[in-house]
Amino acid sequence: RQTLQAISEKDPLINSYITVAEESAMADARLADEKIRKGEAGALTGIPLGLKDLILTRGIRTTCASRMLENFDPPYSGTVAEKLKDAGAVITGKLNLDEFAMGSSSETSWFGPVKNPWNLSHIPGGSSGGSAAAVAAGLCLGSLGTDTGGSIRQPAAHCGVVGLKPSYGRVSRYGVVAFASSLDQVGPMARSVEDCAILLQAIAGHDPKDSTSVNVPVPDYYSLLSKDLKGLTIGLPVEYHGAEGVHPEIRSAIGEAVRVLEASGAKTVEVRLPHMAYAVAAYYVVASSEASTNLARFDGIRYGYRTPEAASLLELYEKSRSEGFGEEVRRRILVGTYALSSGYYDAYYNKALKVRALIAKDFTDAFAGCDLIAAPVTPAPAFALGEVADDPLTMYLADIFTISANLAGIPGMSVPCGFSAKGLPMGLQLLGKPFDEATLLKAAYAYE
Ligand code: GLN
Repeated sequence: RQTLQAISEKDPLINSYITVAEESAMADARLADEKIRKGEAGALTGIPLGLKDLILTRGIRTTCASRMLENFDPPYSGTVAEKLKDAGAVITGKLNLDEFAMGSSSETSWFGPVKNPWNLSHIPGGSSGGSAAAVAAGLCLGSLGTDTGGSIRQPAAHCGVVGLKPSYGRVSRYGVVAFASSLDQVGPMARSVEDCAILLQAIAGHDPKDSTSVNVPVPDYYSLLSKDLKGLTIGLPVEYHGAEGVHPEIRSAIGEAVRVLEASGAKTVEVRLPHMAYAVAAYYVVASSEASTNLARFDGIRYGYRTPEAASLLELYEKSRSEGFGEEVRRRILVGTYALSSGYYDAYYNKALKVRALIAKDFTDAFAGCDLIAAPVTPAPAFALGEVADDPLTMYLADIFTISANLAGIPGMSVPCGFSAKGLPMGLQLLGKPFDEATLLKAAYAYE
């Protein structure tokens, strides 16, 4: 009740929720009450959690922040939503995002932009901006987001919460609307590293319903947390720390964070990621190509928005898609369709895949000499609402430090590391070896 009350008081300003699931949340809470009374409570029993609104929830509409799915009632729930429910969580509702998770600011939602709770004239980051803002404002105790190119880590940094993108294959994506299938991962966002560890525990693991989920053991993340980092080597990539255009406040906050990690016993070494300059270009070709095929299913016939007037089948497709999708989604579909078309496929898509392989190899080489990598999450603190909304290239460059992890499939985390002079939160990024989320959580916990 307290959480629902807080939502009704504060969310009209922040707009972090698309749908507040009052009735089903109260039903979840009653179930949790019963469990607690019977002495059967687990770590998440009765804990109010929100879900990014592209995770399917039976009984609660799932919109992807798009007009296309404004009234879509999914016939089944995603595995991650089921797992949280099974663990006793109370699902408070569905959180706002950039339309179909395409963006870095949460401004492209059909349901209006999300505001940064620390400063309402600034963006919360994106695309999981609602998931980050709701946690920061106390409108749920934790949430799930998705990260295709930074969408958990970047909004976590901008809102001063902890966010973790697991390794590709660690968490099931069954029942999560696909943006770019070779990059998407679901992950937790929370107020502390401990909470993040508990949430990851609840959602991680192999799922036979998702053929990309990997069957490897899930460690007990919580029990592995420790304040002692002796024996750990942290790599500092020259290309990230020396990058041009990094805001001085970010630079000094990251420098300070590295000193704190060293004081906890970690050793630091320089590492190189020589292909990082090509990451943004490669990502936007790969992600848009995959998006263009994934979004082909929204044809106005099977489900979703259908134009009220069309004289022919072709016109029905054209109008439904033009009216149902917003500008950024249409831009991605056009870029992707172009990159995949005959005659251009080798020049763009294949080339991007080759660059992707080089970026993955950069990380393999770097991790030969360190256990994890420390870097900024974003080049600058959150920008003002509307400041770059009309400038897609500048928006894309905001992902420069987060995108490589998705191309390589490795886990990444964002931990709050102070505030800018304007009072906006900043984030430290930790990147790990494939399936080594435990080391990330440990270092983050020691730092926090
Ligand atoms: N900002 C990136 C994009 O627009 C990443 C989005 C995401 O991770 N979902 O594609």
